[in-house]
Amino acid sequence: MNKQKSGVFGEKILYYCKDCEKFVDAQQVGRRYVFRCPICKTKNVAFGTEKSLRNFFHIDDEKEEVTKK
Ligand SMILES: [Zn+2]
Repeated sequence: MNKQKSGVFGEKILYYCKDCEKFVDAQQVGRRYVFRCPICKTKNVAFGTEKSLRNFFHIDDEKEEVTKK
């Protein structure tokens, strides 16, 4: 499985820890779609495209880089 470039959404998939309230480099737990935050060690991690995560969690970042292709 070597598909880090684009997921099912055709965009890069990011991981967002709801406890840390930031994007993290999550680690997959087993073979399931469960991801653990490397910082706080919880599995309270959501994943999706950057845009969808920002919309969903109302993340405001100063560098609003819209990657439209
Ligand atoms: Zn965390």
